[in-house]
Amino acid sequence: MPEAPSAIEEISDSENAALAAALRYEPDEVFVTDATGVIVMMNESAKKNFPRSTLKTPIFLFIRSPMFKKAFDTALYSNAKIEKVKFVLRGENERHLEAVFIQTRTEGRDRMYIRLHDETERVRTEIAQRDFIANVSHELRTPLASIAGFTETLRGAAKDDPEAREKFLEIMATQAERMNSLILSLLSLSRLELTRHTRPTTPITPKTIIIQATEALLPIAAKKNIQIKTALNFGDSLEILGEKDEIFRVFQNLIENAIKYSEPDKTVTVTGEAVDHELRLIVKDEGFGIAPEHLPRLTERFYRTDEARNRAVGGAGLGLSIVAGIIYRHKGTLDIQSVEGEGSEFHVTFPIAEK
Ligand code: ADP
Repeated sequence: MPEAPSAIEEISDSENAALAAALRYEPDEVFVTDATGVIVMMNESAKKNFPRSTLKTPIFLFIRSPMFKKAFDTALYSNAKIEKVKFVLRGENERHLEAVFIQTRTEGRDRMYIRLHDETERVRTEIAQRDFIANVSHELRTPLASIAGFTETLRGAAKDDPEAREKFLEIMATQAERMNSLILSLLSLSRLELTRHTRPTTPITPKTIIIQATEALLPIAAKKNIQIKTALNFGDSLEILGEKDEIFRVFQNLIENAIKYSEPDKTVTVTGEAVDHELRLIVKDEGFGIAPEHLPRLTERFYRTDEARNRAVGGAGLGLSIVAGIIYRHKGTLDIQSVEGEGSEFHVTFPIAEK
């Protein structure tokens, strides 16, 4: 940090004007106040982010933070004349800010130069990463603990009980499968992170892929006596620009969810049509449905609507975040509609590739 507030006093008027002009469009919020905190100058960004701020009003009226005020005073009274502080502005949109205060004396007047740097995005990313790791550890720990527990039981109490042994081995296999599927999902997510902003360029025919995804799920559907009906009213040769495996994954996840979150004997319907330059697809079920408050959060990683029911069917809440990531990369859209107790509809669109 330059140690030269006094240098500012020495610059000429025209230089001062140039500096003010440069600050005007600076992305950080810049305020200049007097020694009591009354604003004498502010830049565009400051005006935009603090619409209530006007010249001649004390900055503390809208930046209400004891830490901010304390740092202001420190810069004012200490010898260093410069101070930095990180603080949080609560309100409708919480903001994490770093403020730098530099005290100067211009033409005999005390001035405080205050620059605010927004760190909200960085802090959010850090929190998201921390939560992600905590979630992954939690999800892996549960099946791992179960496998470790049953290993002990098989060595001890169940050693000579073939019936119990069979039962426990089956539970262990299910738990191992759960860990396997979690790790596969994590790998998909990390691959999607890398390719998120690169749109696929290979023309593919979605109809065959959707039919393959449907067929792959017939055995699971049959176990619950669920019928899968398809009505794909578009040409076999219709193309979109896409990654085959990823499009397969989208429909595999959506249809599998439709089966998982339905009572037995229901029907899952997959429909599709081409409208203008868009391929519109719907995966519809007659299942439990989703309460409206959950809808906006369904595509978040590890988000589940009902812990107990989900644990029973074994999902980690990653499927829809993968689906949304893939659709985003393919420049498509995802819209979820649902009525609790009646069923859900997942509407997916992709741009049709022009031939
Ligand atoms: P999971 O692996 O737990 O199924 P997803 O990301 O695929 O995770 O789905 C997130 C949550 O959304 C699920 O846990 C479930 O609560 C809900 N959900 C997803 N699809 C459906 C559906 N077709 N019907 C009802 N609830 C659903």
